[in-house]
Amino acid sequence: TYVPLVELVEGVAEQWNMKSAQRIYVHTFNGDFFAYADQNRMVQVLHNLVGNAVKYSPGADRIDITLWEEEEWLCLDVRDYGIGIAEQEKDMLFNKFYRVDNSDHRQIGGTGIGLYISRKIVEDHKGTLTFISAPDKGSTFKVRLPKQDVLV
Ligand code: ATP
Ligand code: MG
Repeated sequence: TYVPLVELVEGVAEQWNMKSAQRIYVHTFNGDFFAYADQNRMVQVLHNLVGNAVKYSPGADRIDITLWEEEEWLCLDVRDYGIGIAEQEKDMLFNKFYRVDNSDHRQIGGTGIGLYISRKIVEDHKGTLTFISAPDKGSTFKVRLPKQDVLV
């Protein structure tokens, strides 16, 4: 169905704002964006990404979510200012049950399934889920969804 992406993002951000140390800011340009998507699964992706941003940035005071349109794509970035991801981990990150094995990451709980599922959901919508990251600077997870109608 046609789901209001900004509204979903704001709902997820609000829920995390009630329990996280970081303040979650949602930045949008020209109003709401609508995506052809399965609403519940999109909310699941958002919770995974924001939950990771919160978990993996202890000590940071903010997280930024930005939404915009670019040609045929709806773009959503979730940016944190946390522990980041080392170069040698980057290829494995979306693998099922993969968790980074260093002391910073190991102290933080999880099963390693969130990103695997999130990428699967986004790809089922004919989109992409990628990231850029630098250790001790933070990470940006990037969702791209096609604007046109796709069957989901
Ligand atoms: P789950 O999501 O299943 O509860 P998880 O958060 O450990 O557990 P994923 O969300 O799949 O698993 O993430 C896989 C691994 O990638 C994490 O264990 C963590 O090491 C790393 N990671 C994910 N998001 C971030 C982030 N924003 N910053 C730094 N590392 C991250
Ligand atoms: Mg996770």
